[in-house]
Order: sequence, then structure tokens, then C-alpha cells
Amino acid sequence: MKIFFTRNGIRTLIQLSILGVSIYWLTKVLVNPELFVDFEQYCPMGGIQSLFTFLQNGALACSMSGMQLILGIALLVCVLLFSKLFCSYICPLGTISEWFGKLGRKLKIQFTINDSWDKVFRIFKYALLSLTFYYTLSSNELFCKTYDPFFALVSRFGYDVIPWAATIAIAILGIGSTIIPMFWCRYVCPLGAISNLFKHIYVVIALVVIYLVIYLLNIEVSWIYLLIILFVAGYFFEAILPERSKSIQMMKITRNTDSCIDCNLCSKKCPQGIDVASLEVVNHADCNLCGDCVGSCPVSNTLLINNKNSFRWMPILALAVFVLGGIYLGTKLELPTVDMKWGSQEEVAQSKFIEYSGLKNVKCYGSSMSFVGQMKRVPGVTGAATYVNSHTVKVWYDTTATSSAVVKKALFSPVKVHIKDGIDSLKYAIIDVKVYNFFDQMDVFYLDQIVRQDGNILSFESSFGEPVNIKLYADYNINLDSLKNSIERKYVSLKSGDKEYQQSINFKVADINRTKRYVRGIDLKRGMFLSYKRTCNNYKSYPKDQIVSFEMTFDTYPRNEQMMQYVINSVATKDTAVVGMVTYYKAQPTLRVYIVKDKTDPQKVADLITEEKLTITYDNGIVEKIDNPYTFK
Ligand code: SF4
Ligand code: SF4
Repeated sequence: MKIFFTRNGIRTLIQLSILGVSIYWLTKVLVNPELFVDFEQYCPMGGIQSLFTFLQNGALACSMSGMQLILGIALLVCVLLFSKLFCSYICPLGTISEWFGKLGRKLKIQFTINDSWDKVFRIFKYALLSLTFYYTLSSNELFCKTYDPFFALVSRFGYDVIPWAATIAIAILGIGSTIIPMFWCRYVCPLGAISNLFKHIYVVIALVVIYLVIYLLNIEVSWIYLLIILFVAGYFFEAILPERSKSIQMMKITRNTDSCIDCNLCSKKCPQGIDVASLEVVNHADCNLCGDCVGSCPVSNTLLINNKNSFRWMPILALAVFVLGGIYLGTKLELPTVDMKWGSQEEVAQSKFIEYSGLKNVKCYGSSMSFVGQMKRVPGVTGAATYVNSHTVKVWYDTTATSSAVVKKALFSPVKVHIKDGIDSLKYAIIDVKVYNFFDQMDVFYLDQIVRQDGNILSFESSFGEPVNIKLYADYNINLDSLKNSIERKYVSLKSGDKEYQQSINFKVADINRTKRYVRGIDLKRGMFLSYKRTCNNYKSYPKDQIVSFEMTFDTYPRNEQMMQYVINSVATKDTAVVGMVTYYKAQPTLRVYIVKDKTDPQKVADLITEEKLTITYDNGIVEKIDNPYTFK
């Protein structure tokens, strides 16, 4: 037991516990596709990126919350005052890197990189850090999720992951760290780059002060330039002066040269390859205060922290304070993903707000902006905020211009969903259903899946009410009892990739009635079509005879007319001669595109409309790519 404590066994125990918990949940996630474990919630790297998106764009990145932000700040303060304790005790990738390195040494397949190549390789993590910050700040989506090995595995290579990038990252983590000591941490990890930058805090402070002076002189310089200069400086100091980090770190490894017997064990044990036995004080940027060197020293009171035996437990204590304190503060701090006010000062001053929870489709920055766009179109609404972690929204409204009932109704998006075509001349039944616990687009999706799987519903549409009104168009001899049971089922089968899983649902049917009316198949097809109409690029500034149009026929019945706003956003930004789009149902669902005569070519515009990915440009300049939901004949 004594050896366990003296040989740094506590650190191994903490690493084992964190890796064990991660592997346990990872296994559960892999065998049960329905399970979602939000590891992201505790990722300080996401928090640090969010801190910058908050400063730059006034919005948290992606699905980040106050928790990640606080943990990110806690990590930076911890690096500043103590050391990279997150790397040495908590980070599962750091642990894997270290243990794979030990395996490589045992198998005798490990080699060390010479000093010159070491300096060159260190540039990779700063390049990756720059890319990560650039894309995160410009899209408000966490770019690190595209390649992070840990996120790729726990999300089963989910939506945000770029499979080839994550596969390369996993290979680098496994193979790289086995054959070259701490390859991932030294040369790849962007969090390691930020941490090392904070080990040269005086440089960071000097550059930030220069930036602030420039800012106060009213010279507009983007945050991006400050970040680039910081990262270049970080690389320079790490590569050129790795052993002279100028930090305000309160704890350092110290060697008593009088009692040291020069056995070199400490240097051999250091996972970072630091030659501890040649130093009096370890100032190396790679030192993360893991304590392995201290635990290996055979002479008592020789290798210590701050020359004091009692400081041995300080790293663990400091870590506990920062992690537990960070989690506690994180639960208290609720930051909005998006918080915008667009009313005048007077309107905002007399505004009240309503809060609504459970909007499952408010789940990221993109859906938050879409929600804000929806609210901006409501007269009397002066602002909106979203909290994606709890799927909650707040909407401010001018009490002299509208009421909470009107705003609540505006939160509801009525839909028309056409599932399949009937026979044009046949009569179909109209069923009125009132449903509780049905509010947002995810509920529409679940109902869509239920009736699709049952097979005897052709279409449905919803309208606001408490409970919500749903009109179903069904086969004429449908059984209402089995339809009610079907809607009230506890689970609906969904697919994620090739895997099927059960999603719990909670619809409650308050009333179900078959109306005396009926509808013919052909009228249903026409009636369910939601037309879309929008002009752009100064449509009104052109004389009528300067505008021509062409038509494209949808390949399938378009299920979500809301997505047309993304098509027009993408196409009209790339080609300013596109001035409007209209969808309507003629003999088939049709898109008519208006363009300025002789300023563009219909084929070129058609190519933009049928691109696999649409490029969305938001009002605040953020650009995002999404899959094109439509195909055309
Ligand atoms: S010098 Fe000691 S404390 Fe620092 S990384 Fe190496 S073994 Fe860990
Ligand atoms: S392990 Fe201890 S005694 Fe051996 S070289 Fe290092 S500090 Fe000196």
C-alpha cells in the first residue's frame, strides 16, 4: 500500500477510473443506439472555443452551455496557477497516449524523434488549433467534433464527425503514441497547444494589451488576427524555448542537487521525456505535474514539488477544487446559445417575456437562428433567446403591441405532411384528433413515423390549439380505436444509419372523431402542397421585362417547404441575378425561378439549385453547409 501511494498510484487510479467509466459508457452506447451520453457537456476544449464564439459572435458554439464554458475557464486558470493537470490526470486521450507509449517501449518498437524534427512536428498542433478556431468562430459549430477520436467513438461516428478525419485521428492516437512517446499530446492535441500557450502568460498578456490599445484607438482589427498571432507566438516559444516557460505557476518540480545520487531514474520515468535529472527546477512547457518523477526517486526529500514534501498532494487537491468547483458553478450558470433583441429601446423596455420548454428542435446554433428568424416575423416580438441544452426558449414581446397568447401561437408551426399519394378518383376519410404533448417539429417527425409505419394514413396537418388539432386523411374504412392506440404508443421505431432503435414518445389523444366529409385523392395532393414564395437581390429594382423565369419539377413530393429558404439563401448569394423563387402544384410539384435577363444562365442556376450541399449565410456573416433536401427531375 505504501508503494502504491509513494509510486504515484493515486494518479494511475484516477486515470483508470476515468478510462473505465469512458469505456463502460462507450460499450453501452455501441450496443444501444437509442442511448445518448452527453460527454460533450464536460469537455473544456468545447468550453474554450465557446468562450471565443461568445466574445466574437455573442453566441455559444453549437450545443454548448454555461457548464462547458466554466470548465474551459477553470482549465485555463488551472494551467496558469498550477499546471496542465487536466492532461496528466483526467484526459482519456492523454492516458491512452501514455499507456500506448509504455506498450511500445515494452514491445521495443518505440523511438524518439531528434530535436530538430521535434520542433518541426510541434507546429502541427498549432496549425490544427488555428483551423479549429477559424472554423468554429466562422460557423459557430465546434470544428473539433469533426475529428476528435473520443467524440467520434461515443457518437458512433455521428452527424458532426467527418469519418476519414476521425479515422486518421484515431490511427494517429493509437499507432503514433505507441511508436513515438506522447505523440498525440506533443504534436496533435489543440488543447495541449492552448495549455502550452498559457505557460507563457506574459506573452499572452502583452499581445492582448497591444490588441486592446489598437481597439481603443478605433482601429478595427478582427479577433482572428489576435488569435493567429497568439498561436504563432505559442509555437515559437514552445519550439524555441521549451525549458523556459515564463508562467505564474505556483507549483514546480524541484531537485535537491545535494542529496541527488544522479541515478537518472526520474528522467527515465518522465512520460514527457524531460531530462529531470539535469534540472534544478523543471520549467519545461511539457511538464504537466504528473508526479511520476517524484514517485520514482529513491532518495527521500530529493525530488519534490516546491522543495516541500507536503506539496506532494497539492496537484490532486488543486484538480479536485477546479473540477468540482467548475461543475458546481457550471450548474448555476445558464447561458443562452443565442440572445437577440431587435425592438427599439422603448419597445424592449416595455417588453415582457414568456418561457417555453421542451422544444426539441431547438438543439444547436443553426436551429436557434432559425427560431430567431421565425420570431422576427411575428409583429410585436422584440427579442428571443434559446437554451439548447434544456430545449428552452424565451421570447420578449411588446405588451402594447401583442399578447402572450398570440406569441404562444406564433411559437407553434402548423404543418402539412403528405406521406403518400392516393388514387386520384378515390374518396378518403378525414379524422379530427386533439393531441396533448405535441408541439414542435420533432413531434411532427415522430407522428410522421408512426402513421408511415401503420400504412393507412395518406397525409396529416396540424393547427394551434391546446391540445393541438391534427387532421388526418386516411383510408375510408380506418379503425379509430387502433388509430388512437397507435398514436398513444410508448415507442416509435427510428433508424440511425443501419441500426434501428426505439424512441420513447408521450402523445395523449384527448379526442378523436371521423368527420362526415371526405376528400378525393387528387384534391388531397393539391391541398397538402405548401407553396413558397420569396424575392431577393432587389427584385423590385428591375423593370418587369428584365425578369424571366424557368421551371423545374421536383423529383418527389417536397415534404418541408421551410427548407426552400435555404435553397434561395444558397443560390441567391452565389448568383446575384437570381431574384425570386416560387413553388406551386401544377400537374406536379414545381419550382419556378426568377432571374435577371442576360445576367445569368438558367442551366448555371439549376446547377446551383441541385448542388448536394447548400451554403447558408446568416445575417451575422456566419456560413454553414447543409445537405440539400430537394432533388429535381
Ligand atoms: S517532469 Fe515529472 S511531473 Fe513533469 S511531466 Fe515529467 S514526470 Fe511528470
Ligand atoms: S531520481 Fe532522484 S536521485 Fe535519481 S536522479 Fe532523479 S532526483 Fe536524483
